[in-house]
Amino acid sequence: MLDLKKIKKLSDLEWKDERVFLRLDLNVPIKGEKILDLSRIKAALPSIEYLNSHGAQIIIGSHLGRPKDNEEYSLAPVAEALGNLLKKEIILIEDPLSDTAKFLLPSVKKNQIIMLENLRYISGEKKNHSELSNVLSKYITAYVNDAFGVCHRVHSSVNDVPKKIKKKAVGLLIEKELQSLDYILSSEKKMLLALGGSKVSDKIMLIEAFLDKVDTVIIGGAMAYPFLKAQGKEVGRSFLEKSCINTAKKILERFKLRNKTIILPFDHKVVSDLNKPESLEVVTDIPPSKMAIDIGPLTSIAFKDSLKSVEQVLWNGPFGMFETEEYAAGTMNFAQALSKSTVTSFVGGGDSSSAINKSGVAESIFHVSTGGAASLEYIEKKTLPGLEALI
Ligand code: ADP
Ligand code: MG
Repeated sequence: MLDLKKIKKLSDLEWKDERVFLRLDLNVPIKGEKILDLSRIKAALPSIEYLNSHGAQIIIGSHLGRPKDNEEYSLAPVAEALGNLLKKEIILIEDPLSDTAKFLLPSVKKNQIIMLENLRYISGEKKNHSELSNVLSKYITAYVNDAFGVCHRVHSSVNDVPKKIKKKAVGLLIEKELQSLDYILSSEKKMLLALGGSKVSDKIMLIEAFLDKVDTVIIGGAMAYPFLKAQGKEVGRSFLEKSCINTAKKILERFKLRNKTIILPFDHKVVSDLNKPESLEVVTDIPPSKMAIDIGPLTSIAFKDSLKSVEQVLWNGPFGMFETEEYAAGTMNFAQALSKSTVTSFVGGGDSSSAINKSGVAESIFHVSTGGAASLEYIEKKTLPGLEALI
């Protein structure tokens, strides 16, 4: 198990005149050039401001989306939004592996910050290769990780780079995230796990680890479809990760053996075409020609009622494609139900926190985390590869 005390915090170290590579998670939901939710950018501000006011020069690195080529997912709109919030100019370096940052650093003014383009433009980033650490080690003197949302990944900017830098610390956001998670882990309260979203294969394996920790699991969104398939139900043209059906089957069996409840959607909102919200209908069985885009109203009530028998809730993944207003009811109703109930609620995930912010109930949630899979994995293993690399 990770000994968090071994990881340095920002306040444990001197930062004056250090050249710090600050790994942030600025992977915001974005449509074209429009940022749909600024939460992750805002959550990054305290560490930037801390390092800045303590005399460090900062080089920011982040990923954005899952780019297939270098034209997609530029951080340019993110750099602009961050610059506006900080009231500073962000100098975006197009090639994260170039020496440009090294040469620019001596002339960077107080009101400017350097940022590298999308780290996933680097071919070895996801393979934990050393291209990035080879370049950074020529000009940085310290490393700070405040990218909670990617701490569960063994990627070079969160794993290989810190392993090669001596002076390193965890940022203020991660510090806060871990405090909230540790609070949940240490409490003996009856817990409900609510899962949804679309990163099904990333997260489905984590459910099993909750067998001992939770009393009830409710599953909506695209996460529900492998489970429905495992029960022999049809899901039509809904977004189905077929590779997850077997895992879903095993999870259902194991939870049943232990007398734990898993509630799956039993009515659905379906459309014939994603771009035709006017074709929306509520059904109990998903017809072959339709795709389910949200949980139905009866499921929504059952999910809400499940809150009555628990004391704390861990929620990751929206129950529908809430980005479209007509498909958002299941997610928004649950957010409202959480805010009205007395349970202690912890909501994690980029899209989930964006949904919570949209619903206007963020204030009444105990903790809205920037990391979805990262928080689930931390609860399971009490450690994360990105944190290990800071020791
Ligand atoms: P988070 O970012 O909170 O960890 P995910 O990234 O796993 O959550 O999933 C969020 C995405 O899941 C949203 O973009 C949403 O549109 C999508 N989603 C939710 N329900 C469905 C569904 N039934 N079919 C397809 N996509 C869905
Ligand atoms: Mg997401």
